[in-house]
Formats: sequence, C-alpha cells, structure tokens
Amino acid sequence: MRPGRYDTEAPIMQRTIDTSELARTGGEISGEYPLDAMERLGSLLSDRQGCVAWGLRGWRTRRADGVAEDFMTLILSATVRVPCVRCLGPVAVELSAERSFRLVGSEQEAERLDLDDQQYDVLAGGSRFDLAALVEDEAIMALPATARHERCEIPLAAASAAPVDEAAPRPGPFAALERLKNGAQNTDIIED
Ligand SMILES: [Zn+2]
Repeated sequence: MRPGRYDTEAPIMQRTIDTSELARTGGEISGEYPLDAMERLGSLLSDRQGCVAWGLRGWRTRRADGVAEDFMTLILSATVRVPCVRCLGPVAVELSAERSFRLVGSEQEAERLDLDDQQYDVLAGGSRFDLAALVEDEAIMALPATARHERCEIPLAAASAAPVDEAAPRPGPFAALERLKNGAQNTDIIED
C-alpha cells in the first residue's frame, strides 16, 4: 500500500474509490465534482456552474466472531440554483448532507440487509466503487422539493392573470377537487 494515497491535502477528482482500502486504513479523503459532470443533478438545476464538495471517511470494525465490517460516512455541500416554482427564475439553494453507510460484498446482500439495518444505509462496496454516482444521488436527495424566491419579481397580480382557468366558465368546488386529483396544484406556474 502506498502511504498518503488518501491524502486529504489533495482533492480527489477520480470517480471511483476502493471502499475496502478506505475502510481498512481508516482513510479520510475529500474532493469536488463539477456540476457540469452530473447529468441527472444538472437536469434539475437552473445552470451547472459550480461543484459539489464532498468528504469521505472510512472505518472498519470487527464483530465478536472476527468478521470485519466496513463503514464510511459521506458529507457533501454545494450551492446550486434551482428554478423558482413561481417565476422559473433561479433561486440559490445551499445543499448539505451527511450519511453513513455499511459496505457489503454484493448488491444482493446490500438489498437484503438494508431492510434490517436501522442505523446505516447498506451499499455494495468494491475496488471500483462509483463515488461520483453516490455523491450525485445524495445531492439530488438534498434538493428541496420546491423552491421559490423570498421576494419573487413577478407581482402577484401578473401571476394570477396567467391563463389557467379562463376557458372554464364559473368553476365550481368540484373543479378545484379535480385539479387536486390530477396533481395540478401548481398550475399557477406560468406557462408560455
Ligand atoms: Zn420567483
């Protein structure tokens, strides 16, 4: 093993890591992934300027029967811009997350054990573990369900003048119910 392989001084840009090595050495690593390299996350954002900063710490414990168990904790932070639900302009959002994982040998094992483990999410580790995908997953989960400007630049009057129900003469109470059932609560979003 090369000492300093997981040197925290040097940000890691590589997409994959060896989770077993990280846990065995109790390594701490950190790095940044640019937003423009994250297709799934980027598609939810107003723009892809910036990056997601992350830190990862691994550790290994031994059960009473001597079997080694590997763990890691991921933290991440980022400033991103997402579309305002009202005016669709960019709203700056601070993302942060921290999650700890138990690492097992296979996807099947991870799926089986994840149901039982209340404390940790269970993941299949490996020598080429896709850390970039995990960071992207966690960043997506950290996004707010909706975002809106504290002071939206579109005045209320303009927003409510959007042609939502103009074609429907005198909508009764059931019309509102239908809209809810159709999941159209957000029809006040302006559509061109
Ligand atoms: Zn807005």
